[in-house]
Amino acid sequence: KLGGQSIIDRGSQAVLPLIEEIVAARPHYPLLVMTGGGTRSRHVYAIALDLGMPTGVLAHLGSSISEQNALMISLLLAPHGGIKIGHDDLVKLPSYLSFGAIPVMHAMPPYGLWEEPPDRGRIPPHRTDVGTFLTAEVIGAKRCILVKDEQGLFTADPKKDPNARFVSEIEVSELMKSDLNDLPVERAMLTSLARARSVTEVLMVNGLEPGNLTRALAGENPGTRIYRASNS
Ligand code: ADP
Ligand code: MG
Repeated sequence: KLGGQSIIDRGSQAVLPLIEEIVAARPHYPLLVMTGGGTRSRHVYAIALDLGMPTGVLAHLGSSISEQNALMISLLLAPHGGIKIGHDDLVKLPSYLSFGAIPVMHAMPPYGLWEEPPDRGRIPPHRTDVGTFLTAEVIGAKRCILVKDEQGLFTADPKKDPNARFVSEIEVSELMKSDLNDLPVERAMLTSLARARSVTEVLMVNGLEPGNLTRALAGENPGTRIYRASNS
């Protein structure tokens, strides 16, 4: 997943080098590119909240923003086999991959109007990190890589706390117990990872640093690895 706020919102400077890495990796690995929403999602959530809209409407609105990003990323990849796919096309993934295509799908999961209300507030709890993870789980992906703008997980948001310490790997239940105030991934994604049957880890890498995505695809951990100890 290419982060919305962390990557795509930064425009060509952040996106184009990643497009190159994806194109170069494609002959070596079958991959599915997914897209977050970012600041435009946050904007529409703020307006919808102010207008009194419920969580389901916010989720529906957020979905169309991550789809806008999927359109742009798929067009950048189009000369190299990029093709935007919808959720209903996911079952055709093996065929797309056998043609050498680079499928691009928006990452907001399809709860839509039926999104569950969160613990607090009205922001949809299942957003594009969750959608990406659940997609990886259902297709039996080997790796689930979240490309964002920081090296990985820190003990606090490194943009706000200069003393934040970097964490290169952590077990998912340990992370949930640690109850950090601020996380670089959606909390609901951690719950999904803890319960997953197929995908055993999520990698978070800094996409602003060239080569990290390529290394992650090759099985290295250039950032943070959040893993599940066992299938209990
Ligand atoms: P995306 O663009 O994929 O939606 P987000 O912007 O939601 O990514 O999340 C990534 C951001 O989370 C980072 O840019 C970072 O500033 C922030 N963040 C908050 N808490 C942490 C933390 N504990 N460790 C690392 N980053 C954090
Ligand atoms: Mg996010």
